[in-house]
Amino acid sequence: MGSVIQKGEKLVGAEGSSRPSVHIGVLGLQGDYQKHLEMVSRVEGVDARVVRTADEIALCDGLIIPGGESTTVGKLMERYGIDEVIRKRSAQGMAVFGTCTGMILMAKEIEASNQQRLGLMDTTVRRNAFGRQVDSFECDLDIPAISGGPVRAIFIRAPFITAIRGEAKMLAALESGEIVMVRQGNLLAAAFHPELTDDIRVHEYFVKIAVAGRAASRN
Ligand code: GLN
Repeated sequence: MGSVIQKGEKLVGAEGSSRPSVHIGVLGLQGDYQKHLEMVSRVEGVDARVVRTADEIALCDGLIIPGGESTTVGKLMERYGIDEVIRKRSAQGMAVFGTCTGMILMAKEIEASNQQRLGLMDTTVRRNAFGRQVDSFECDLDIPAISGGPVRAIFIRAPFITAIRGEAKMLAALESGEIVMVRQGNLLAAAFHPELTDDIRVHEYFVKIAVAGRAASRN
């Protein structure tokens, strides 16, 4: 039986601990997966690796889908048959964290697009939503679920969320109102790139979701 991690309890790595490390895969089809790997590897108790096949994803407690180009990544997922395993494993409790392109692919609705997607979250997204004049920008983002002050958020040709439904909950919005971070149970999505700063709090938050999902799926 897996033990339930209590709130505030520290994750302990594999060495010298009876608790196994949490397995986080970073999808390595395209985009900035190496940076995500570096960041999530810094979180205590994490065993992180780049994953590209259905078999590798089947072993993960959590999966990060990095930024990139969502039409390309959506096609590659289908070609390699990994979209199905992600849908199946996430329904079983595997945590999934999509950033930028990942957030687009996790949405059920993508405005003005019929591109391939995972369609996991009750969200509607708008791609390249900030327009050309603000292709990229940074800001300090208040994320009440993450303590320790605002998170520096870097947006690169970013989408934002135009609607949330059902169990999807907003975690953060810009001062101008655009929703840029959401959670739906074991699913997490952000329009920005938390891997491009030195601050691991967003990755830590995701790892906690993955640990809770692992405990639940083994109980
Ligand atoms: N504009 C890209 C897309 O639509 C997302 C950009 C990114 O992931 N940084 O997929």
